[in-house]
Amino acid sequence: MSTYNKYIIPVPQGILQRIDRTSSPAHTGKLRNAVDFIVPQNTPVLASADGIVTFVKDDSNVGGPAPSYWHSSNFISIMHSYGEYTRYDHLAYRSSKVSVGQQVRAGQEIARVGMTGYTYTPHLHFQVFVFTGYNIWSDFDTIEVKF
Ligand SMILES: [Zn+2]
Repeated sequence: MSTYNKYIIPVPQGILQRIDRTSSPAHTGKLRNAVDFIVPQNTPVLASADGIVTFVKDDSNVGGPAPSYWHSSNFISIMHSYGEYTRYDHLAYRSSKVSVGQQVRAGQEIARVGMTGYTYTPHLHFQVFVFTGYNIWSDFDTIEVKF
């Protein structure tokens, strides 16, 4: 399965240290196509394509290298064309610059990179996904994306 939309790298290219698709222990199963962008904390997070914001959580202030932090991740989801969505995780506390229902453009800053949720090192976790049901925590599958 491949993506129908064109996605851009969701951090400023001059700040990006490297792209890591494989080393996170969380990138298995439904998350097998997730991508980690290794960047410092407070790096701007950019919408990867035009779309509409469907989920915003930025009220968490905790995170670390343990699965117990899984649900403490701040994240934003954006709906794009063809039933595809993007999700941006580990966002900094109260850094969201968008709200649910808002239209965003590719390249627009939506938040900042933080260390919330299950994370070993500062990075932006990114995934393109489709829903397989209605629950954003469980009913989805990621799809492979090229930049
Ligand atoms: Zn990740």
